[in-house]
Amino acid sequence: MNPCKIIISQTAASDPKKHDFEEKLAKQCSANGLPVLVVPDIYQAEPNANAVLAIRQVKGPVILFSWLQPRAAFWTLQQFGVKGERAEVVSVEPFHPDKRPILCLNLSDRCCPGRWMEKIEEVLDGELPGETGILDRIDETVPDRWYPVIDYSRCTNCQECLEFCLFGVYEIDKGGRVVASTPDACKPGCPACSRVCPSQAIMFPLHETDEAIAGSDTEKIRPFDADAFKKLRTDYEEGKTSVQDVLRACGCKTKSLPRSSRPCCSDDAPGESPAESTDRGYFDKLIDGLVKD
Ligand code: SF4
Ligand code: SF4
Repeated sequence: MNPCKIIISQTAASDPKKHDFEEKLAKQCSANGLPVLVVPDIYQAEPNANAVLAIRQVKGPVILFSWLQPRAAFWTLQQFGVKGERAEVVSVEPFHPDKRPILCLNLSDRCCPGRWMEKIEEVLDGELPGETGILDRIDETVPDRWYPVIDYSRCTNCQECLEFCLFGVYEIDKGGRVVASTPDACKPGCPACSRVCPSQAIMFPLHETDEAIAGSDTEKIRPFDADAFKKLRTDYEEGKTSVQDVLRACGCKTKSLPRSSRPCCSDDAPGESPAESTDRGYFDKLIDGLVKD
């Protein structure tokens, strides 16, 4: 029997289509003998949330379904201390506990739970168990969170993000590594340091309009023009511009982010279009003046 655990991270959006999709997938996995754990949105969970504690208890291989880019989902788990290696297939070969396979899949990438069952059969080493699997759920409220997730396979520890952030989100940990030590000090909607990081290592998994910032494996983040940004920063330090203006120029939204959903892969897929921010036109013009072509 394949010991793989299916974890389904629900959308934080109140989107009945997406919740129905998650529910059907959970039931189909369970009906095919796979143990399933359904949790609230893993990115927005707090480090001591029951969902995080439950995921840490899982010892074997994991397939994590979420509405996030797979790279963002994987590094979100890592920041919560869920050890393992990012995998493309889930093998039953013996593995070191720190290297168990974790396969992250974006629910937006397939149009129905049946297609995901085909994918599971493809990636599992061995046949589906066939007996009914246990279906566990953790129901808890998650806060609206917005913070940077670092991909340490890319991070070179250059500390540019630490130097750049005006709000003390980053610091050096005891091991000398840059970490987002006070993530909730990050300004909702601000993706600025992802454009500053020279290694494309900083992701904002809930960014609605830029796949690269949300953690795409292939898309490139458009960096700030260094000179334009330096001038903005100098203006700020000399009191010629306000924090609010800097945030705006970095693409921050002034209001809390709506719990809307990321766009889906096809018209048939569940979900809704991202909500239009009333500030988008203004911010986009400012950003366009700062990012490189
Ligand atoms: S700027 Fe990027 S590469 Fe440099 S320390 Fe920060 S996350 Fe790592
Ligand atoms: S996005 Fe802005 S506020 Fe958030 S950590 Fe990066 S620079 Fe700081």
